[in-house]
Amino acid sequence: MHELSITQQIVETCCEVAGGTPVASVTVEIGCLCAVLPSAVSFCYEVCTEGTPLEGSVLQIVSVPARGRCRECKAESMFLDFRSLCRCGSADLEFTGGDELRIKEMELA
Ligand SMILES: [Zn+2]
Repeated sequence: MHELSITQQIVETCCEVAGGTPVASVTVEIGCLCAVLPSAVSFCYEVCTEGTPLEGSVLQIVSVPARGRCRECKAESMFLDFRSLCRCGSADLEFTGGDELRIKEMELA
């Protein structure tokens, strides 16, 4: 379960930036090709923030769609899942993006 180490990194980064100030909410962008389960991150977040300035804060997860280009018909589309197919039915897609995972926003309490 790599969500735990990812969440730990998010929490550590936020703690550094907050510098001891309580945090109200954190918004994280997760690309849909990251193979990270938002529900698992939410679960880990509660565990990881215990005893930190982030304890009790709200974690908001924004799923970022991936941009993909079909190698068959050359159409470009947005995909929410790496198992998606092109409109033409082809699965031969080239993705450019959707693998980002970053802290978008942090609100101090
Ligand atoms: Zn296509």
